Amino acid sequence: MTVAPSPPARTLDVHLRASLREFNTFGLPAQAATLVRIASDADVRRVLAHPDYGRAPKFVLGGGSNIVLTRDVEAVVLKVEVAGRRLVEAREDAWIVESGAGEDWHELVAWTLQQGWPGLENLALIPGTVGAAPVQNIGAYGVELKDRFESLDAVDLVTGRTVTLDAAACRFGYRDSVFKQGGFEGLAGKSLITRVRLRLPRPWQPVLGYLDLERKRAETGIDQPDARTIFDWVCAIRRAKLPDPAVVGNAGSFFKNPVVSAEQCRDIIDRDPEIVHYPLPDGSCKLAAGWLIDACGWKGKSVGRAGVYDKQALVLVNRGGASGAEVLTLARAIQESVYGRFGIRLEPEPVIF
Ligand code: FAD
Ligand code: NAP
Repeated sequence: MTVAPSPPARTLDVHLRASLREFNTFGLPAQAATLVRIASDADVRRVLAHPDYGRAPKFVLGGGSNIVLTRDVEAVVLKVEVAGRRLVEAREDAWIVESGAGEDWHELVAWTLQQGWPGLENLALIPGTVGAAPVQNIGAYGVELKDRFESLDAVDLVTGRTVTLDAAACRFGYRDSVFKQGGFEGLAGKSLITRVRLRLPRPWQPVLGYLDLERKRAETGIDQPDARTIFDWVCAIRRAKLPDPAVVGNAGSFFKNPVVSAEQCRDIIDRDPEIVHYPLPDGSCKLAAGWLIDACGWKGKSVGRAGVYDKQALVLVNRGGASGAEVLTLARAIQESVYGRFGIRLEPEPVIF
């Protein structure tokens, strides 16, 4: 009997002294001492078994659309490129869809719609990879990832074991999850998500209610839009309102919308009756951070080569050649003026490195 030779073990795709400028949507300059492209769980385990990289600190990178790089990265950068998408199950109450973590999020949204599995349309045109979507529980226009989440697979960056986590284990919060949380119980920097499974409920129900979507409804006279129409509306609204990172460097909303107690909210409304606020089911109140920044006069302003986008004050932009330090200087100045006027501390949304 002849035994076929076993295929050669895949070697790691390693890049030394790699520029990260093209790998972050802010276009900030930084270099990775070592960047490894990760196409599978096995690739992660190869890194962990490697004599030089195995014990070194790691930095997991998706599409770089929610990070602010302020320095070179000495940690081994694991650039997630796990591919593939499939329908796992067509249940009576939902379609279960699985995607590799390296797939582009927006392309996944478009693909599910083409297949006839609606439910992600409100999350159209969010930049970045599928694997990063659970990290900050991405959300837009009244839908969050957690509303469509089934489970995910992640590789432990110490043991190399792949584990499957359900929604409870992910501890999703407002632009938050266990993958953003540090400490003993958090998983920030401790695991690499390789696959995400989504649950798209049947029958499909539209999620409208955000003012910009209601405006589209009124403008077009379409009272009961289908999922494809909502997808087109969301894309059009976002293209009109947000800077395209391919043209103007940015990381989307720079600050989270602060959540304050009902009492604090009443106090702020007494002083600023115009403030944009949304009561939450638990009695607290979400304030529109963009409104607070605009009210402090920041819209369109710049500090050095970093600026505040003129159509949406929540977005900080790279006016050309900005460094991460310049972006942070601007962010701190904004935080100080919002605190000075409203007594509210704005918290950055992107991961600052
Ligand atoms: P990266 O920026 O590469 O990484 C972000 C964080 O996730 C890092 O801590 C990284 O270590 C970690 N991470 C990335 N991949 C993995 C993985 N596979 N396993 C473990 N950890 C990982 N966000 C919203 O929520 N809603 C919006 O509407 C929205 N609009 C945006 C619009 C613009 C123009 C831009 C530039 C950004 C916007 N964002 C929005 C933010 C951003 O798109 C999302 O947070 C997105 O999910 C980030 O994906 P990424 O692959 O680029 O992640
Ligand atoms: P918008 O529609 O002008 O609304 C301003 C803020 O008010 C939003 O942040 C939103 O909170 C809140 N809001 C509006 N209508 C609401 C409602 N009916 N119920 C509860 N909260 C409401 O905001 P925008 O800047 O154009 O963005 C539109 C959507 O895309 C928002 O959901 C926003 O989060 C998302 N987005 C996110 C990023 C990012 O980087 N994170 C970037 C661009 C856009 P929420 O943010 O909680 O929805």
